[in-house]
Amino acid sequence: MTVKEIFETMDYGPAPESAAEALAWLAEHSDGFGHFIDGSFTKPGAGFDSRNPANGEVLATLTQATPADVDSAVAAARAAQGKWSKLGGPGRARHLYALARLLQKHARLFAVLETLDNGKPIRESRDIDVPLAQRHFYYHAGMAQLMEKTQPGREAMGVCGQIIPWNFPLLMLSWKIAPALAMGNTVVLKPAEYTSLTALLFADICRQAGLPKGVVNIVTGDGDVGRMIVDADVDKIAFTGSTEVGRAIREATAGSGKSLTLELGGKSPYIVFEDADLDSAVEGLVDAIWFNGGQVCCAGSRLLVQEGVSEDFYRRLRRRMDGLRVGDPLDKCIDIGAIVDPVQRDSIARMVDSNTEGETYRAAATLPASGCYYPPTLITGLSPASTLMQDEIFGPVLVGTTFRTPSEAVELANNTRYGLAASVWSENINVALDMAPKLVAGVVWVNGTNMLDAAAGFGGMRESGFGREGGWEGLTAYTRPTGKPKPLSKIEAFTGDKGPEDGIDRTAKLYIGGKQARPDGGYSRGVYSKSGTLLGQVPIANRKDIRNAVEAAHGAKGWPAATAHLRAQVLYYLGENLSARAEEFAKRLDQMTGNRTGVKEVEAAVDRLFTYAAWADKLDGDVRAVPLRGVALAMREPVGVIGVLCPDEAPLLGLVSVMAPAIAMGNRVVLAASEPFPLAATDFYQVLETSDVPAGVVNILTGNHAELAPTLAAHADVNAVWSFSSTDLAATIERGAAGNLKRTWVNNGQSRDWMGEEGEGQTFLDAATEIKTVWVPYGA
Ligand code: NDP
Repeated sequence: MTVKEIFETMDYGPAPESAAEALAWLAEHSDGFGHFIDGSFTKPGAGFDSRNPANGEVLATLTQATPADVDSAVAAARAAQGKWSKLGGPGRARHLYALARLLQKHARLFAVLETLDNGKPIRESRDIDVPLAQRHFYYHAGMAQLMEKTQPGREAMGVCGQIIPWNFPLLMLSWKIAPALAMGNTVVLKPAEYTSLTALLFADICRQAGLPKGVVNIVTGDGDVGRMIVDADVDKIAFTGSTEVGRAIREATAGSGKSLTLELGGKSPYIVFEDADLDSAVEGLVDAIWFNGGQVCCAGSRLLVQEGVSEDFYRRLRRRMDGLRVGDPLDKCIDIGAIVDPVQRDSIARMVDSNTEGETYRAAATLPASGCYYPPTLITGLSPASTLMQDEIFGPVLVGTTFRTPSEAVELANNTRYGLAASVWSENINVALDMAPKLVAGVVWVNGTNMLDAAAGFGGMRESGFGREGGWEGLTAYTRPTGKPKPLSKIEAFTGDKGPEDGIDRTAKLYIGGKQARPDGGYSRGVYSKSGTLLGQVPIANRKDIRNAVEAAHGAKGWPAATAHLRAQVLYYLGENLSARAEEFAKRLDQMTGNRTGVKEVEAAVDRLFTYAAWADKLDGDVRAVPLRGVALAMREPVGVIGVLCPDEAPLLGLVSVMAPAIAMGNRVVLAASEPFPLAATDFYQVLETSDVPAGVVNILTGNHAELAPTLAAHADVNAVWSFSSTDLAATIERGAAGNLKRTWVNNGQSRDWMGEEGEGQTFLDAATEIKTVWVPYGA
């Protein structure tokens, strides 16, 4: 036999990783696992089996948490939190470092246990999941060390409830626990029912590392246990999983004051241009959709390939698919392991079998005779609206279609309710970097896919959820401003029966799309001074007016695309023009509120406009050094159209304080003016009209906050809703926002000092922007 023949006929022999150590660790717990609460394992109780999906064998018996278990885990976390926070950043950094070291020392045990429990190939758990988990603890040990210097004025949230899925059990645990602990929080975490074992091994590691009792608590069980955590006395919920459950959690926490971050599903486009290196793009697809059997929230599951190369590309892809090896996950030469559970495999099969469109190609791979497997599958020629192009399959199934032009690629890519990730393949840097900002996705990989790192923020747009994990932006989800907030009581409008002092009728209008508009309903109400004199009439806006305003805001497409320099100039001009009418505004404010703070308020409003004019061209993105052949750009993008219920107590300054950061960052706004004192806002549109603010960028409505809030919150084309109203609208807004999972920022019935530091700064700029992480090849 010649060497050539040997090469051509060579096949893989079995290369099994030993499971002995992991099985021995499991054998130590043969009477079952309890929960890890307050530093020790509870006695095992009634529960369920955890099985190896590769062969169906029972690996361990786990305990289903009861409400009492969850209560005691939360109580332990609560009791430990003060001391853990007071330990200080450097003190906590040592503990995180110890955890990172122990994760390294026990890396192989973690990898094997993960593979046994989840079915993912050992190659992945050993080379990706576990090293990334270690990296997260190292990175956040650093964040803890630096917290006091880099996060002045911020402190831990308190107790965090964390709920994670089964696709990256240890990695998701690290993404949740490391930043929480670094910032001084304590946690109660629930792993997924299918895959709890590495979380329990991690609990063991916490003991070994000497982590103070109660800092990490782990409770096991099904979705009911998740619900119990959501309802428990915790300060924050961090969830990764399906959009459906994410939405339910948004509704369940509405109005509770609990902070929430959601990392949900995706249907991420994988875009191949005709000038791409096609073989690299094919290889990339192996990582995009067959990594972890496609059970990846950011999987490149939707292939969009340029028409001219599509046949060639599909041919190369099918050939590569036929080379994929599916089988025993513990075999080091296996590409695709087992699907996590028969329930998931059946769901994949059901979705694929119900499809009648396009052409289905199944890889030639031989599947093991038993165990939970599904073949790598490619379905091409689907229409954009097809169910398989829109819904997450969460398995090794790639669906695709073709496009002709870059703009068609953008349209197809963004034709989804999700917005988690996207890959762009092109050897032309202009094409690739032109696409990146146009894709609605929290993460964009250029000539790459599924790259993840602790330094690079990860998270979604649209129904893929909100909040970021990793990077500096990930820390805001685990901290809050220091200080005790004061309650805000409802501010009522003055009433009266005296006509205007000068007898002149002053009836304001709404301000929509750069024009003064009569209210749809045709109703208005009188605004009176403290002594009961009529100061003017304002319209009562209704849902139709909101719809018109949102449409006008969307029409102002040029604003987010305008240069920051231009936006700065407009804001300076607004400041200048307001300043020119300072006296008149001050008088109006004093008449409306009955206070004598008008002069100061106008001064502060002018100053605020100048502040955000200054920020407009200075809040840059930044570049993250990631340990891969590339850099990750953290780009700040505007959120979109923001609806704001403006503060009642500072009629002009409050409006300016929310409008200015929003428009400085390229958003368009629909502002519901101070309910009791709306005349400063209706005067302000004259300033807008004279300051070159493009039509539709700022829209001003007057009316009843409680009536306007539900429409704003439920509007599918509004991207974020903020409320600083003295009417407590937190529950209404957060519940309404669950529909399209829009971002919310509500005051939870607490006051804010608009004149002081609380009234401006980073918090506003952060809320007005979202980080898009763009991975770009760089260096060797
Ligand atoms: P879920 O969203 O149901 O589960 C995620 C986690 O939430 C699990 O720990 C689960 O518990 C828990 N949970 C379930 N219901 C509730 C609830 N009402 N309140 C609080 N917690 C709850 O995802 P699944 O695991 O069921 O997977 C279903 C689909 O979700 C997949 O097919 C896939 O499409 C998608 N998915 C997306 C992921 C992502 O990263 N974006 C990850 C996993 C799944 P339990 O362990 O009992 O299920």
